[in-house]
Amino acid sequence: MLPSMIVFSSVTKEYVGRAVVRDLSFKIQPGEFVCLTGPSGAGKSTIVHLLIRAECPTSGTIEVDGADLSMLPRQVLQMYRRKTGVLFQDYKLLSDRTVAENIAFALEVCDVPESDVAARVEELLQRLRLCDHADAFPHELSGGEKTRTALARALASRPSILIADEPTGNIDPDQSMEILELLKQVNAEGATVILASHDQRVVDSLGVRVLRLEQGTLVRDSVGGYNAPATIEPASAPKESVSPSSLPEPQMEPIADIEEKPVAVHQPKHAEHHHPHPGASHTPRHSVHHRKHDDEKPPITAKIKPIGI
Ligand code: ADP
Repeated sequence: MLPSMIVFSSVTKEYVGRAVVRDLSFKIQPGEFVCLTGPSGAGKSTIVHLLIRAECPTSGTIEVDGADLSMLPRQVLQMYRRKTGVLFQDYKLLSDRTVAENIAFALEVCDVPESDVAARVEELLQRLRLCDHADAFPHELSGGEKTRTALARALASRPSILIADEPTGNIDPDQSMEILELLKQVNAEGATVILASHDQRVVDSLGVRVLRLEQGTLVRDSVGGYNAPATIEPASAPKESVSPSSLPEPQMEPIADIEEKPVAVHQPKHAEHHHPHPGASHTPRHSVHHRKHDDEKPPITAKIKPIGI
């Protein structure tokens, strides 16, 4: 058996002294498709944020390829994030860039040569049925189109790990099936896929390994539909539920940092409320600062191989 790619060991995450994820331990192998499920507020997005190190555990460790995620030096963390595609629940598209530019951006920050960017963007526009919307701005898109744009961006750099947080939350059943098929395809091509979804139909249709959370505690780790019986004794189950309304607003690390956004480019704080740029071309208009990594040591995550899609 291959060594585990992702290892959660007794991970607890607290916000203002209240645990929203409790004593979580599980391993994910390279190439697995794992569905993270449970009711709203169970802690799924918190796990996604921990996985991309937008947050660090209050206690316990998260290892990726044997390296403690909390301890990764900045440059290695950048490499890890470049190999990890994320489809966020609220998309986090750049509101002042077109669909094509949003996809291109993910490649620019990975120092992909300009000559290769256009071809890759075109490929993804076709793959995600976005050609007719290439020059549209996020506020001009439907929920399904935003989801496909966010997925195209997540896939742009051929990530080895793809994390999708509630990707079917704002789309109809047919479009949901399309997204799930694509995730399966990406997984078949070698990527590890972690899908967070509260939707029973989604979980039932996938038939993959399910990690089920309830009030921040892992109560199930097995293959099967949403209602398969719990497999883990909820010994550490919380005595009281965490009331979302009693907690402060999430204080996430800004997406600019998550995506290692080049400092020269303006990043609006709130997405999708900016004026469109008529006549935008597929080629990004902004010049981008490319960071050089010549003096870097080989990163721990270098052994994660990119996938083909
Ligand atoms: P899910 O994705 O399963 O709906 P979340 O992980 O978003 O659940 O949230 C789990 C709990 O943690 C909720 O009660 C939520 O309000 C709380 N929470 C999440 N992030 C934060 C944060 N940054 N600050 C305070 N509370 C948070």
